[in-house]
Amino acid sequence: LLQTVGLRKSYGTQVVLDRVDFGIDAGAVKAVLGPSGSGKSTMLRLMALLEPADDGSILLHGREIGTESGRAGAARLPERRLARQRAEIGMVFQRFNLFAHLDVLHNVTLGLTAVRHVGKAEAAQRAQAMLERVGMADRMRHYPSELSGGQQQRVAIARALVLEPSVMLFDEPTSALDPELVNEVLVVMEDLAAQGMTMIVVTHETGFARRVAHEVALFHSGVIVEQAPPERFFTQPEHERTRAFLAHVH
Ligand code: ATP
Ligand code: MG
Repeated sequence: LLQTVGLRKSYGTQVVLDRVDFGIDAGAVKAVLGPSGSGKSTMLRLMALLEPADDGSILLHGREIGTESGRAGAARLPERRLARQRAEIGMVFQRFNLFAHLDVLHNVTLGLTAVRHVGKAEAAQRAQAMLERVGMADRMRHYPSELSGGQQQRVAIARALVLEPSVMLFDEPTSALDPELVNEVLVVMEDLAAQGMTMIVVTHETGFARRVAHEVALFHSGVIVEQAPPERFFTQPEHERTRAFLAHVH
């Protein structure tokens, strides 16, 4: 459903993504693990069209997105078309990135009214339904500063979902949370997965990866070292790097 082909990205002289082929099928959940600085966030940002790649391409439903045609180095699409393609790809960040000056309801409706040109009443209705789904409907008039981290993250998930993306990308959605708040966010994500949402989740929560992911990938220095179903990934990893990584997190 969403796929990268030969994706490359450097910052200055540092190669951060080195011809990455990575993707996800419809309805699948992939967990991405890897040490700090290995390029996980960069890959998600590129897949979400938040930043251009140096080379390679990104395909959604088999069609290239982000660039005019050919390669990612080629002309980037105009901002309006990028915005429309981005709405297909929901992204949730480590830091919740809610708009501080908007209440919960308006954080969730903004994308609908501004990007999708949905009327106010309908946007509010859809937002409310989504907030119910993440257990936040009773906090619609609260501002982000009045919410716990877990609550903010659930609002961020609702804000992405309300645009009806075909895939959701999560970048360490629970690692900025106090331990006792991690679970309420994981529960929402597990629920989403159970309902068939296509998801890529960068996480350090190996329990979640074991339970929910269909496949687990290990990133190291801008390349995918190993990719396997969780049973195999965690118990019989093929690569030395995977074994070393797992020895650290366990
Ligand atoms: P973490 O687990 O710490 O989140 P990560 O795997 O997500 O790490 P990235 O954030 O993708 O890693 O960063 C990969 C490398 O690219 C790092 O060395 C980082 O310093 C560098 N990098 C990321 N973004 C930028 C940027 N905007 N400008 C310059 N360097 C960057
Ligand atoms: Mg990161």
